[in-house]
Amino acid sequence: MGSLELLKSVAKKTMESEFYTPIPDGYKSGKTKYLIITGSVMSGLGKGIFSASIGKLLQDNGYVCSPIKMDGYLNVDAGTLNPYRHGEVFVLDDGLECDMDLGTYERFLNKNLSEQNYLTGGKIFKEVLKREREGGYLGRDVQFIPHVTGEIKLFLRNLAMNTKADVVAVEVGGTVGDIENEYFFEAMRQLAYEEGEGNSCFVNVTYVLEPHFLGEQKSKAAQLGIKRLMEKGIQPDIIACRATNPVTYKVREKISIYSNVPVENVVSCHDRKSIYTVPTMLKEAGIDKSVMEILKLKNKPRPESKEWLDFVKNTTSRKKEVTIGMTGKYTGLRDSYASIIKALEHSGSKFRTNVKIKWIETTEIEKGKKNVVDELKDVSGIIVPGGFGKRGTEGKIKCIEYARKNNLPYLGLCLGFQMAMIEFARNVCGLKDANSTEMESDPKHPVIDILPEQKKIEGLGGNMRLGGRDVLVKKDTKAYKLYGNKTTVRERFRHRYECNPEYIPVLEKNGLVFSGKAPKVPIMQILELPKHPFFVGVQFHPEFTSRPLAPNPLYMGFVEAAIKFGK
Ligand code: GLN
Repeated sequence: MGSLELLKSVAKKTMESEFYTPIPDGYKSGKTKYLIITGSVMSGLGKGIFSASIGKLLQDNGYVCSPIKMDGYLNVDAGTLNPYRHGEVFVLDDGLECDMDLGTYERFLNKNLSEQNYLTGGKIFKEVLKREREGGYLGRDVQFIPHVTGEIKLFLRNLAMNTKADVVAVEVGGTVGDIENEYFFEAMRQLAYEEGEGNSCFVNVTYVLEPHFLGEQKSKAAQLGIKRLMEKGIQPDIIACRATNPVTYKVREKISIYSNVPVENVVSCHDRKSIYTVPTMLKEAGIDKSVMEILKLKNKPRPESKEWLDFVKNTTSRKKEVTIGMTGKYTGLRDSYASIIKALEHSGSKFRTNVKIKWIETTEIEKGKKNVVDELKDVSGIIVPGGFGKRGTEGKIKCIEYARKNNLPYLGLCLGFQMAMIEFARNVCGLKDANSTEMESDPKHPVIDILPEQKKIEGLGGNMRLGGRDVLVKKDTKAYKLYGNKTTVRERFRHRYECNPEYIPVLEKNGLVFSGKAPKVPIMQILELPKHPFFVGVQFHPEFTSRPLAPNPLYMGFVEAAIKFGK
């Protein structure tokens, strides 16, 4: 009897049992392996890219890999998080608002994920409290161990079952020692014990310092971090050392001695020019081979696909360059726009062009401190990305007016779609006081208004029009051509406001074409100007569906138009 079976039978026998290990029906331990990635020393080391890269390598070996991110914070999802502090809020097809690492997973693994691939402290506690109110804990005092940890393990095992995963790759957010992540570490320790030998593999991503005043690498911080992990009863199997330069053998040896990890499994993950070369670096360091050995999975070596290698080659050796202006409130933190930057990179790679971004702070334009012509004279295209609230919107409208009048390629994303409509209503249709009711409570012409379904909703969090939805594309339009003559496409949304249907006729009469609509309700989803080389606004976020091997067609069209404009 495996240890898991043992626990199950004990748990069944007595209500007094100290175990609380709910197991999904039909679950067999050993069928799914668990790769658990933790961090030490500090956050921000790129654990997400690391996890996605190992997942990709396992996938390349023919294994089904289901990634999951566990975040300790008490938010139920990432919907209410400020992107300026936490990076972009990524939206999945099922509508979950989540950490941007899920975007990295989707892009590297080239597949759609769901709410089963993301777990926060808030989500677990919500579940625990719900079960407690339902009397689900049979009169027990509800505790971190075994109840909270039990729910976490159940979540992982459900993911394993539902996705028929060969490997579940768990990324534990934050760093060992963070109070809010303690119970995740504890759950992982228990899981490894219950699943038994050969069914789990712990990787710790640590950091090797190289202070410039010393000019040499120091392993002490890494040693201390790994020690904290071991104090929790977790023995790492592999240690990935993040560092600026390749980690020396001496330092790897030192870390090996302190952590009981053979030096071959203490590997250097030093800085790279492009994140897309990380899988190759890990492969060269033999990490995928070690992981498979530890998990007793057959190593079926397959070369990385030609398509992927071509993509990497094209992103790392781009000959041309084009500059795109991006307006944004969170211009101080690039992570807030991670998916847009990636989507531009995917398209840029197709055209072997390096897409540079010029950040444009539109509040400065609004206040008259900067002038639109000066700001936009050296860019070949402009993006107005998603956003909330009034700040900077008048400056954005000025930039859009410039793009419209000067044939400068324009891509408006969500808020950028709405702002383009306001600009058109004011300056082409003559509706001088057109505005959005998000920016002004009672404008004379509310061309952008709250969605009817949103009117009744109070409070924030998970309540916008969210997730993947169909878009009906109008024949013989730019959008139709870009989407390869498809009449229905699926894109991801995250908005509360929309084009006010009352204004559709006047906008259309003046030349605006709505080339994408929702199938059953009058929600406008794509707008374009036929006479302009590229003027497209979308109510959705095409960046969420762009992948290295399948760039989003709208980004492709935009980048191509910008390259042409620059010539
Ligand atoms: N603030 C706008 C809305 O809620 C746009 C949202 C966005 O850009 N994601 O509709």
